[in-house]
Amino acid sequence: MHHDVIIVGAGFAGMYLLHKLRTAGYTAQVLEAGDGVGGTWYWNRYPGARCDVQSIDYSFSFDPALEQQWQWSEKYATQPEILRYANHVADRYDLRRDIRFGTRVKQARFDEQRNVWHIESANGEVFTAQFYVMATGCLSVPKDIDIAGAERFCGQTYHTAHWPHEGVDFSGKRVAVIGTGSSAVQSIPLIAAEASQLTVFQRTPAFSLPAANRPLDRYEIGAIKANYREHREAARHSAFGVPMPIVTTSALEVSAEQRQRAYQAGWDGGTLNGMLQSFGDLLLNQAANDTAADFMRDKIRAIVRDPATAETLCPYDFPFGTKRPCLDTRYYETFNLPHVELVDLRKTPLTEISAAGVRTSDRERAFDAIVFATGFDAMTGALVNVDIRGVDGLALKEKWADGPRTYLGLGIAGFPNMFTITGPGSPSVMSNMMVSIEQHVDWIAACLDFMRAHGHDRIEASSDAEAAWVEHVNQVADATLFPKANSWYMGANVPGKPRVFLPYIGGVGPYRQKCDEVAQAGYAGFRFAAAAEVARSAG
Ligand code: FAD
Ligand code: NAP
Repeated sequence: MHHDVIIVGAGFAGMYLLHKLRTAGYTAQVLEAGDGVGGTWYWNRYPGARCDVQSIDYSFSFDPALEQQWQWSEKYATQPEILRYANHVADRYDLRRDIRFGTRVKQARFDEQRNVWHIESANGEVFTAQFYVMATGCLSVPKDIDIAGAERFCGQTYHTAHWPHEGVDFSGKRVAVIGTGSSAVQSIPLIAAEASQLTVFQRTPAFSLPAANRPLDRYEIGAIKANYREHREAARHSAFGVPMPIVTTSALEVSAEQRQRAYQAGWDGGTLNGMLQSFGDLLLNQAANDTAADFMRDKIRAIVRDPATAETLCPYDFPFGTKRPCLDTRYYETFNLPHVELVDLRKTPLTEISAAGVRTSDRERAFDAIVFATGFDAMTGALVNVDIRGVDGLALKEKWADGPRTYLGLGIAGFPNMFTITGPGSPSVMSNMMVSIEQHVDWIAACLDFMRAHGHDRIEASSDAEAAWVEHVNQVADATLFPKANSWYMGANVPGKPRVFLPYIGGVGPYRQKCDEVAQAGYAGFRFAAAAEVARSAG
């Protein structure tokens, strides 16, 4: 079956791209491994799952009618509500007729003679297309469970990213949660509310801020909707995809009282970036960052009653904000409950999962259920999971053996007519992803229009442009504190993964400007060609 474009993934990226391309007159087919739309929100159904960017921002802006009609109920919508939104979008734009569910792409090969991609699914179906877009998500491939014995456990095991659709009842159960990142931080308070006993196995404590979540009232929603266009435009030119004033003051040039007031305001505001953006140098200067980290640790000590538990929950070994902070509802408070235990894996390392439970260096604990909240092979996992072959049979996995190389996180030298949405080297996970997804989709659609208008059949990022962009991405990251953390941003959470800063931290606004400039200059850094043979004859 031949199409102008094959899109892999029916999360928000694939959904919007399908709509955009169809509207522009292209034929497009989405291939999706899951059985429904929504991507992240289809898979991550664990208790407490919700967005950590406010719902009014974490939503599509491409259709003013959609944003006016849709009504978010809470400041941070729950996973079921976001999934309802995804389904509403699919219905509203009649997307499902061009989405093939239950179809995992395993291989994609570029035919250089005909400028056609051959795409094969795990169930043996073959598709061809002139263009191939990976909308496969940055956090869609759970990290392999790298703990010995997991298969031996006789109780139930769950991964937050593959949660059963029918839900899980932990009532009366002894439950273990392994991990203390965002997924764990969101789910732990709810699991604790059901379980008879909850044990949290923590290797690295996270910095978590209170979400201050609440229902949105109609006056507040009305005020936002009255001004939505301006709000969206501000988001597009912001640092992280959410409108926020830019503060350039150093945390070190104000008094301790002023700092305290600013941090308290950030803490009370209940947003991911409020505290981080209260001064201009928190992500640049270790001494400045220490003042924020101290504030956070004091907060933990003030909430958690047992001093030893509080100290175990205090992060020390990475600067605040260099691992994605968590946003929680009563996370630290949960450790005050009598049936909740925290195990410090730094003191007593996890040695194995046994038939009965979890064994640490000092003892074994028995459980009825184990929840793995152990994270993702972020940003590159879903891309290299597919055997993608470009010019001369070059394998993407081989090209990226020492870390991903892209031009703008959109194109890859050696892989003509292929695009990635929110790929490595773009702001993606450093931003409100909706803003970054829309920007990439709009850019790709405009690029295809340009090619159509100019009779180009083939586009490829040049090696020089790619090398210069990779260098720039690294330079910008190296000027920050981010490389100091063993984070998934650095690929450090996956054993053997190259240690490279994966996203672009130069800011959503400046990045958009760069992409726009590239387009205005006739897609500078990309090479075009007309086809020797017309791609459509491949069908
Ligand atoms: P995804 O939603 O990941 O969709 C990708 C789709 O591609 C998936 O459905 C997957 O099944 C499919 N796929 C992958 N590989 C293949 C293949 N080989 N063949 C076929 N199909 C394939 N971001 C924010 O900005 N704000 C938030 O509040 C926020 N909260 C999050 C909460 C959780 C629990 C997680 C895990 C992530 C969160 N994110 C958040 C990031 C989130 O991933 C993005 O916001 C966004 O949903 C990504 O959309 P996407 O379409 O790019 O990718
Ligand atoms: P994560 O942040 O990578 O956290 C994984 C946790 O598991 C870490 O605490 C990690 O410890 C631990 N872990 C991994 N392997 C382990 C092992 N072998 N033994 C013991 N502990 C182990 O993953 P996540 O919590 O799923 O979140 C990933 C990202 O998804 C977030 O940063 C965010 O971008 C997004 N997300 C957002 C929300 C939201 O609030 N909207 C919710 C969930 C996820 P180490 O740190 O020591 O490796």
